[in-house]
Amino acid sequence: MAICLFCQQETADSQQSCQHCGMALPKQQQANKARKLRRFAWFVAGFTLFCAVMIVWLGRTPPAIG
Ligand SMILES: [Zn+2]
Repeated sequence: MAICLFCQQETADSQQSCQHCGMALPKQQQANKARKLRRFAWFVAGFTLFCAVMIVWLGRTPPAIG
């Protein structure tokens, strides 16, 4: 049995959401959080790569004036 964080009622583990209030069970919420965290890590990695490319690209580009 899993205990609902929202209404504190017990729900079967096989259920994906609470039988009483319809909220997602803690196990499901942790999976969503892990997925969001992984997506955020990919976003940071992509942004870091973008910054590195821009630093190299801008560093090699001569100034427009002069
Ligand atoms: Zn509930």
